[in-house]
Order: sequence, then structure tokens, then C-alpha cells
Amino acid sequence: MPNHDEFDLNLDVLPGEVEKLRLQVREFARDVVAPRVTDLDGAPADDFDWDMVSQGHALGLTRVAVPKEYGGLGLGMLGCSVALEEVASVCAGTALIFGAAMLGQTPVLLSGDPRLQARFLPLFSGDAPVLACNAVTEEEAGCDLIIPANAVHAREVMTARRDDDHYILNGTKRFITNAQVAAFASVFAAMEGAPGATGLTSFMVPLDLPGVVRGPVADKMGYRLCLGSELEFHDVRIPAENMIGNEGDGMAINMAQSNMARASVAGISVGVARGALEQALQWCGTRVQGGLPLREHQFTAAKLAEMSAKVDAARLLYLKAAHKVDNELPAPQYEPAAAKLFADRVAIDVADMAMSLTGARGYVKSFGMEKRLRDAYGARIYEGTPEVLALAVTESLYAAGEPI
Ligand SMILES: Cc1cc2nc3c(=O)[nH]c(=O)nc-3n(C[C@H](O)[C@H](O)[C@H](O)COP(=O)(O)OP(=O)(O)OC[C@H]3O[C@@H](n4cnc5c(N)ncnc54)[C@H](O)[C@@H]3O)c2cc1C
Repeated sequence: MPNHDEFDLNLDVLPGEVEKLRLQVREFARDVVAPRVTDLDGAPADDFDWDMVSQGHALGLTRVAVPKEYGGLGLGMLGCSVALEEVASVCAGTALIFGAAMLGQTPVLLSGDPRLQARFLPLFSGDAPVLACNAVTEEEAGCDLIIPANAVHAREVMTARRDDDHYILNGTKRFITNAQVAAFASVFAAMEGAPGATGLTSFMVPLDLPGVVRGPVADKMGYRLCLGSELEFHDVRIPAENMIGNEGDGMAINMAQSNMARASVAGISVGVARGALEQALQWCGTRVQGGLPLREHQFTAAKLAEMSAKVDAARLLYLKAAHKVDNELPAPQYEPAAAKLFADRVAIDVADMAMSLTGARGYVKSFGMEKRLRDAYGARIYEGTPEVLALAVTESLYAAGEPI
């Protein structure tokens, strides 16, 4: 629940290592990602740029939240969120490659289990990039797998069955970012016999096991630089020690993971909005109509000012959320949900206004603006739709019994 008295983050000064990463990632986004975006965005849905990922990996983008003792950067959700804003200001899909990798690592990070952490976390810190993914969504069960009260209604959920010292997994996940290219997945499956997803259980699954099939890549409207695909499990046998927590802990782990990760998705949305704002500022500063640069027309100035204020406000919310997530156990529910709810809306509003300000240029693909609008719609779906986030926010508000 929000406790504004305890808030002590100096929002103007990031910790030194986070600021250093932010500047490095800004360069990576400008020099490595930007020149490739238009081509990759227009390429077939299953095109994937490993070279770009390798260069991001060299900066640590595949392991920002992994503790230093396991070879990561140890910069928590603050580091992740700030880094992902920088990448997303150029391309949200590229940001989500690294964001989804972090999500795939999160259950192990949250487990606090030193054996699981020592087995899996160092694997992300070698010379070559190793990606993870987070497999929750299914054909019949979408939001029902991220609203605890609705877990009982979830239909046809992937199953787990104990078999001696192994579990057998069966079922299919959908829309899983990185599933096509990841080495590991954090997988949520329901224990056989429990109603709906009430027996949801979390497993770390190497994706080279027999019975794992990587299904077709979805031809998405946006976020085209990351691959979202099906992931099938046909009698996949995994050792019991790959289970995270206990049988039936999956929904709680999923919620804790969302609370941890939503600030970073808000960072992606802020990046999308900031990229649109920067492009609109550039255009409105030089485009002359009616004898004046567009920025000097009052209606245009009003739009630019509103866009900028929204980007700043959304950034403050995600910084606050990330700071709290890194400093509180368990991670709070309210701040990350509120930050993502607001930032997702801001990305859509700002990209829409930027489209309007750039006229026909904005409507032409090569200008890059319409991609920002397509991407803005994506973040409002994963890691909590507005409706799911609204439930999380109001639950926190009523739990406190007082208005904020
Ligand atoms: C770019 C992208 C990346 C993704 N990456 C991943 C990933 O890596 N891993 C993964 O597991 N999934 C991923 N997803 C899938 C995403 O998490 C789901 O799409 C999301 O949880 C919603 O599920 P659904 O699409 O089945 O919608 P549904 O659950 O069918 O919901 C449809 C609509 O109904 C609303 N709704 C549903 N239930 C309620 C309710 N109880 N009250 C009010 N409204 C409700 C929703 O808010 C939504 O507006 C990704 C999706 C996208 C677009």
C-alpha cells in the first residue's frame, strides 16, 4: 500500500551505476538498434537479430537484475526500468527481448533458493547471450492466470503431474515472448486434479528437453523485433528440484513477479512515449506553416507541453515503483500497478498526439512514428491489462482503508 512518508528517492539523481548503464544503453539504442529498426520491423514475423542481442548482452542487458555474485549487474528493477526506457525510446520490441529475459529469471530470483540460483543464474552471464522467457498465457486462460480470484475459473490449463522425483508437463502456452529463441522458460502449470488454476505451480524448464516444441511465431501488429510464439509441452519430464517454491505456489509467485516487473514495463511505455515526443519536438521545431514553426502555434505548443508533462509524470511513477520494489520485501502491489496503468495510457496518448503533429509524414512507415503507436498498444496487454491493473490498484486502496 502506498506510504508517501517513506519515499526518499532523489528522482533527479540516479545511483551512479544505474546512470552509467543508462548512458551506455542510450548509445546502444542510438548506434546499434536505431539503424536496424525499420528493416526488422518490416521483416517476416520470425526474423530475429542475434547480433543486436549479443551487443546488448555485452552491456549486461540480459542480466541487469541478476545479482553480481552470479555474474549479473545487480542493478535491480531500477536498473532494468531505466535501461528499458532507453531501448524502448528507439524500439519497444527490442526492449522486450531483454525485459522478457528478465521475467524468465524472476521466479528464480524471487525464490531466495540458493541452490536454484546457483544452478540457473550464472548461465545468463557467459560470453554468448542466453535468453529466458516467462510462460503464463494460454489459449483458454489469459487474465484468469493473473487475477488470483479468478484462478478457479481458468479453463484447460497446462498440467503438471508428479512422477517419483520428476514432474510431467503437458499443455501449450501462447504469445510467449522469446519462446522461439530462449534456452530456459519459467513455466506455470496447474497440478492435475485441482480446479482451474488453483494448483498453479512454477517450474524452471530448459527448452532443449524432449517433448518441448516451439510453435509458430505470431505475426504481431507491433513489438515485431521480439518474437512471440507458442510453446508446447508433450510429456516433458523435469526434475522435481526445478520446481520453484512448492506445489500450488504458482499464483503467488506469478503475482510477486508481476509486482516486481511492472515498473520495468512502465519504463518501456515511457520510452515509447519519450521517443514519440522527441520526434514530434524535432518536427514541430523546424516545420513551418502559417509563417511560423509549428511549435509557435499555440494549439501545437499546448499539445507538446501536455505530452512532455505526461512523459515526466509517468517516469516519476515508475522510478518510485522500481525504487520501492528494490527496497521492500515482498514487493508492493500498488506502485508498480499504478505506474504501469498510467504509463501504458501515456504511451498511447503521446504517440497519438505525435502522429497528429507530424501530419502525413507520421502516417508514412519510413518516418517511424506509426510504429511507436503500434508498439504503444502492445504494452497495455502484457503484464496486466488496464482492467487487471485497476483491480490490483483498487485492491491495495481498499486494503489500506483510506484514500491516498
Ligand atoms: C507484446 C506481447 C507480449 C506478450 N508476452 C507474453 C509473455 O512473454 N508471456 C506470457 O505468458 N504472455 C505474454 N503475452 C500475453 C499477455 O500476457 C496476455 O495477452 C494477457 O494476459 C491477456 O490475456 P488474453 O490476451 O488472453 O486476454 P483475455 O484474458 O481474454 O482478456 C481480454 C479482455 O478482457 C479483459 N478481462 C479479462 N478478464 C477480466 C476481468 N476479470 N475483469 C475485467 N476485464 C477482464 C481484459 O482486461 C482484456 O481487455 C504477451 C502479449 C503481448 C501483446
